[in-house]
Amino acid sequence: MTHDHIQPRSKGGETTFENLCLACRSCNEFKADSTTGIDPLSGETTPLFNPRTQRWSDHFTWSSDATKVEGLTTIGRATIVCLRMNNPVIVVARRRWTVSGWHPPDE
Ligand SMILES: [Zn+2]
Repeated sequence: MTHDHIQPRSKGGETTFENLCLACRSCNEFKADSTTGIDPLSGETTPLFNPRTQRWSDHFTWSSDATKVEGLTTIGRATIVCLRMNNPVIVVARRRWTVSGWHPPDE
């Protein structure tokens, strides 16, 4: 895991508990300095999911086989696209984790 600045330092974000979250390297690198994304369903530009102020289950769910994250809201769908949360590498890993009983997480 890496430390992600929810509001990027390049956009004035501070290194404080409230502005930091744990993110896997892939999500962190694809997020880069983004704070918004585009919902593929509506085309709307929307803020990305904020794990400090929003609940994961309000914006995301797992596909029936638990290999893909599905967006329930504009924020969820835009975040999935921006962070490439369903890239082929992670989908294969989730499939293996599911077989091992490590996935999906409770929340
Ligand atoms: Zn990730």
